[in-house]
Amino acid sequence: MATGKRHMTDRDQPAMVPEPGNLQMRLEEALHNLSLGIVIFDRDRRVIFCNRRYVEMYGLTPEQVKPGTPTSALIQHRLNLGLKVRMAPEQYIRERVGRDIALDTTVQEFTDGRIIAYAVRPLPDGGGIATHEDITEREELHARLKRQYELGREQEEALRIRNVQFDTAINNMSQGLCFFDSDHRLIVCNDRFTEMYDIPPDKVGPGTPLTDIVDLRYEAGSFPAMSRDEYLLWRTNVAVSNEAKDSIVDLKNGKTFKIRHRPMPDLGWVATHEDITEQRQAEVKIEHMAHHDALTDLANRALLNERLEQALARFHGGQMVAVHHLDLDQFKAVNDTFGHPAGDKLLRIVADRLRALARETDTIARMGGDEFVIVQAPVSDPAEATMLAQQIIAWISEPYEIDGQQASVGTSIGIAVSPGDGDAPDKLLRNADLALYRAKGDGRGTFRFFEPAMDEQMQARRIMEQDLRKALPAGEFELYYQPVVNLESNEISGFEALIRWNHPEAGQIPPSTFIPLAEEIGFIVPLGEWVIREACFAASRWPEHLNVAVNISAAQFRGSSLLPVIVNALAACGLHPTRLEIEITETVLLQDREATLAVLHQLRALGIRIAMDDFGTGYSSLTYLQSFPFDKIKIDRSFVKDITENAGSLYIVRAVAALANGMGMAATAEGVETAEQLDKIAAVGCTEMQGFLFSKPLPVAEIERLFLSRFPKPVAAKNSAVA
Ligand code: C2E
Ligand code: MG
Ligand code: MG
Repeated sequence: MATGKRHMTDRDQPAMVPEPGNLQMRLEEALHNLSLGIVIFDRDRRVIFCNRRYVEMYGLTPEQVKPGTPTSALIQHRLNLGLKVRMAPEQYIRERVGRDIALDTTVQEFTDGRIIAYAVRPLPDGGGIATHEDITEREELHARLKRQYELGREQEEALRIRNVQFDTAINNMSQGLCFFDSDHRLIVCNDRFTEMYDIPPDKVGPGTPLTDIVDLRYEAGSFPAMSRDEYLLWRTNVAVSNEAKDSIVDLKNGKTFKIRHRPMPDLGWVATHEDITEQRQAEVKIEHMAHHDALTDLANRALLNERLEQALARFHGGQMVAVHHLDLDQFKAVNDTFGHPAGDKLLRIVADRLRALARETDTIARMGGDEFVIVQAPVSDPAEATMLAQQIIAWISEPYEIDGQQASVGTSIGIAVSPGDGDAPDKLLRNADLALYRAKGDGRGTFRFFEPAMDEQMQARRIMEQDLRKALPAGEFELYYQPVVNLESNEISGFEALIRWNHPEAGQIPPSTFIPLAEEIGFIVPLGEWVIREACFAASRWPEHLNVAVNISAAQFRGSSLLPVIVNALAACGLHPTRLEIEITETVLLQDREATLAVLHQLRALGIRIAMDDFGTGYSSLTYLQSFPFDKIKIDRSFVKDITENAGSLYIVRAVAALANGMGMAATAEGVETAEQLDKIAAVGCTEMQGFLFSKPLPVAEIERLFLSRFPKPVAAKNSAVA
């Protein structure tokens, strides 16, 4: 069969059969040209054939591989080239050539990095054929691919982990987050974003256009107070500007969001949305607190200045700005009588009343205490300011119902109008204040417009204030004394101490000029102390039946120094307390009544007498007489003055004298200048008199010379009176 087959082949392709020698050559040539190195060896492990590739691969010479060369020499050569083996080289050679040839493939590595795939297979004659293939490049490529593959996998894993982390992070952020691409389409947004804007989460996802999201927000009401198109235009402009931008957006639903827009390199953007509503509300509250009065919620001084400045900048030409400076009258009495919480309530009602009177463009401020300022702007005629001031005075003086009790206050108002009275806030406020000062001086419950003369008066007042403070150490004060005559005995019962200021330039200044200022600036306290000491000292030199009367201001009752001052003065000169009389007016009882009465009782317990001075001029409330057991009522000069012509005055003097007598008090008529007046007051029951008819107030030396020189019978006869 085999022979037959060969014949068939021979027959089919006779031209293809080469000559035997020729074939051998061709085969050899083919073997030489293979990319494999080939070594054919016999059973004795000697080279039969070695192709060119093998020679090239290992850098051999044809001589080194000529037929008959032991394969061990070839192995040795390879070892010399750096073939890596796991045993000693000799042993390796021994093992390779010593064993039977069997089919075997190995990969051989060389120290230079070369990798050779080596295969040996036995030949039927007991020899073998070994092939050597340089697979270095292939191996490297393979290794590289493998590395890349592994790297890819690692990166993929890292990316997957990062995605999980990113997802977790963005969905747990307190801020809304969204990424948009350059086509203004959503790449991704977190849950917080949809939640913040009340957008149904299923309506947004990758690819949703910005316009759709804006529409969804518009429907949900999570939108600023502008039209959809306006907002979209703004948002798109931010996006195309390709610049980072932080915006605060107030939404119609009351929320405030802070949007941080950050462009991305691919022309998309990322935006974070932070809900700063609470923070904003807190800021607004703090801001409000910084500019408003906590009690009334009216503007405070800082905001008033701001508003006034704005009004002055805005209104000019024919338009004016009027500044009303208000001060409540008798507010202190409300505080003292009803307590501070009631006082606070009253201030709040005052604020409400002012709010009801002011216009939208006006500003009302509380300057502290019971002082308020209204900036009326604009005003086209000062008459408008007059009208407002009148309304304010009328309404503020309406009674107040506080905790079931009725209280009442009044108000005085000073008005300054720009530009005439100033065009800067501080000047206008100052001038309104000067006008207020005048309004209060003119009897309260009234208003006054600023006049330049007020400024001059204020200037004069400031100078007087400085002079006053210097006058005490300079010894410029002096006490004059006016005799008080007992109408029953016709004898001097004592003297009233009346202060004079011998000013080095202005000459003698009467108390009516400087006492009110001294009271206002608190200077009355040291001055009053000096008066008490001086008067007590003078009286201590007089016969014992003569008293001294000292006028004490309401301001001297504030604080706790009056009692010790009096006690010390008495002790210092050894004057018996019963010889001291203090004169107070009703105003003393208007303030902090309880404390004042306590001091009066203590003084009286020492034996000091207390007189109610100037009775009839103030409220002349009979309850004052009832509230304290006065020793004396001094009927004001104004009644005595026209007692001879005015029946009313006569009746009043009679009534007061009767009242005094009835209550066991002395009744002294002040300012008796004529004999007729003396007759009248004596006739209606006054027990004492004081007046120019008998003597003007005189310096102590004069008093002593005129009335006390003939001591022990010092009483001057009426006809020796100094007129
Ligand atoms: P006052 O306590 O009512 O004193 C009586 C005033 O009437 C005195 O005025 C006196 O000079 C005046 N006067 C007395 N008789 C007549 C008269 O017949 N005709 C007229 N036209 N006037 C008469 P003065 O000394 O100017 O004192 C005025 C007021 O100043 C006093 O009124 C008193 O309230 C106050 N004052 C005087 N000295 C002191 C003081 O040392 N301390 C305090 N806190 N106030 C004083
Ligand atoms: Mg007096
Ligand atoms: Mg008087």
